[in-house]
Amino acid sequence: MADNSLLRLEVAKANWALPAAGLVTMHSGNASGYDPEDDILYIKPSGMDYEEITPENVVPVRVSTGEVLIDGVRPSVDLPHHLFLYRNLPDVRGVIHTHSNYATAFAATLQSIPLCLTAIADEFGAEIPCAPYVDNEGEHIGEAILKYRNRAPSILMGNHGVFAWGASPRSALKAAVMTEDVAKTVWLAKQIGEPKSLPPEEAEKWYDRYHNRYGQGGSGA
Ligand SMILES: [Zn+2]
Repeated sequence: MADNSLLRLEVAKANWALPAAGLVTMHSGNASGYDPEDDILYIKPSGMDYEEITPENVVPVRVSTGEVLIDGVRPSVDLPHHLFLYRNLPDVRGVIHTHSNYATAFAATLQSIPLCLTAIADEFGAEIPCAPYVDNEGEHIGEAILKYRNRAPSILMGNHGVFAWGASPRSALKAAVMTEDVAKTVWLAKQIGEPKSLPPEEAEKWYDRYHNRYGQGGSGA
């Protein structure tokens, strides 16, 4: 096994950030990270307080077989859904699950979060879809995510909560945080009127600028 101390640290940090960002209560969320070269993911231990999570105690699991690679520590009960996403979404290196309040309010009412804000166009490039309710047996959740996702890096699971993913645990965290943030804004908007969708060509402009020209990597502002 390679030295994965950096990935272990990233997974611990993503889990610490969940309560800090107000996305979880008690133990109701989890973060993982995946190293495809080693065929190993690291995930939150089941039922552990977030402040007790360390880079050393996140649980290693072989992705191809689902085998837990350490004795005496159980991984998060949501492990099967994380495994399914790493096995089926080739570029994904981080996955997060939460029941964050505003986003889960949309899930409770089986409503997608409409593409009605430039912030949603920037980050998600589409509405954040809501999949119908499925139980958590086997691959039901993973299959529903594959079936109902669009290009947005998160999805609402009907009557349940949020799954978010990205090219690292940190980018999955960003998707989870932004999902909750825009859910809150759209919820507020719904108190004073019906949110109005952005025209698709306008949404595309924002998405393109944010993904291709924004930040320190390109020529953007
Ligand atoms: Zn859940």
